[in-house]
Amino acid sequence: MNILVANLGSTSFKFRLFRFDGAGTPSLLAKGGYERVDDFGRAIDDCLAGLQAGGHVRSAADVHGVGFKTVLGKNLTGCVRADARVIAALDGFKEVAPAHNPAYAAGIRRFGEKLPGVPLVALFETAFYQWVPDAASRYAVPEAWFQAGVRRHGFHGASHKFVAERSAELLGRDDIAGRVRKLYQAGPSPVASGKPPLRVISCHLGGSSSITGLRDGIAIGSSLGLSPQSGLPQNNRVGDLDSAAVPYVMKTLGLSLAEVERQMTRESGLLGLSGVSNDLRDIGAAAAQGNPRARVALDVFAHSARHWIGAFLLELNGCDALVFTAGIGENNPDLRAAICADLDQLGVQIDPAKNDALRGAEGEISAIGSRVKIFVIPANEELVVARETVRCIAASN
Ligand code: ADP
Repeated sequence: MNILVANLGSTSFKFRLFRFDGAGTPSLLAKGGYERVDDFGRAIDDCLAGLQAGGHVRSAADVHGVGFKTVLGKNLTGCVRADARVIAALDGFKEVAPAHNPAYAAGIRRFGEKLPGVPLVALFETAFYQWVPDAASRYAVPEAWFQAGVRRHGFHGASHKFVAERSAELLGRDDIAGRVRKLYQAGPSPVASGKPPLRVISCHLGGSSSITGLRDGIAIGSSLGLSPQSGLPQNNRVGDLDSAAVPYVMKTLGLSLAEVERQMTRESGLLGLSGVSNDLRDIGAAAAQGNPRARVALDVFAHSARHWIGAFLLELNGCDALVFTAGIGENNPDLRAAICADLDQLGVQIDPAKNDALRGAEGEISAIGSRVKIFVIPANEELVVARETVRCIAASN
């Protein structure tokens, strides 16, 4: 069975093609992508033609399903067929996730036109947070706001789910890895009694960043809240911000609500702080040359990551492993070192040489004797989406 996973941005389209053999074991057949896309239909045609030319599929009919890592749906989560209900749910929250929801709604429509009859499946990024307790997901707002969907939803669910599964394997807890693998089928199944709880803090640090606490593989909360404009500073998007800032800048700077929204989603985050770039590589280079705003951007990012790690460390009553994943988490040893600095009293000790040497690959970077293991686990969100797509198609056949 061949499953195409489509990763859509407002002007980008990345894809991976997986093949599942008779035993359900996946292999990655191809991956690629397009930047600055102005015609999604043409990009999809191009992708399918490339897969045929590369010998990966004989025809479009050889694609047996397409999976989408949809972000946030109004009154809808989980892993479901990507139909009109999904498009309506994405539309319902398009103001909350303007960089993501319209792109996915448009992409699903285009794939439906280009591949009629091929099952399309949406795995919402919020699905992993279905079991977060109210105490960690409610905001102190009027009831009508809550009924309208104003709560912490959590995102990067596919990435944190992969970390939950892989970290459990690395820590010798196959029972927990199996529990996570079946999570969307079986819910949080019971854990064998007598085993200590497995406590992991997963740090997805990239263009978008979030931190999640995992108890026995299940998310207990997320740094991301109502929208992807929350938690850590994002590339161009503001992270956590006092709600009073919005009316204040509207009144004192004379900004319209639309302009405030634009600045919070396009000109804030790492770009707004540094004034240099939304990419941590550029910011790191500028800081090394003495640019003070770039230095502040790095410091705010590390401080914010430590703030959220601290929150989950307390909630989990300690932790067995701290995991770094995604573009920054996998490739930026300086940031990892800054985040792990001076935590020896909490049992977290990074090994500087191992940390410096590890980029873009899986490995352990904790010092010998560190009570908390520190791992780098390359993100594999697409695999999670592909697996769930297979399962969703099988369940609805
Ligand atoms: P996205 O959320 O867009 O998929 P990524 O996970 O690729 O983003 O993360 C982008 C961030 O990761 C950038 O800030 C960049 O600095 C960093 N990054 C990505 N690849 C590398 C690399 N090879 N070396 C250093 N930093 C990297």
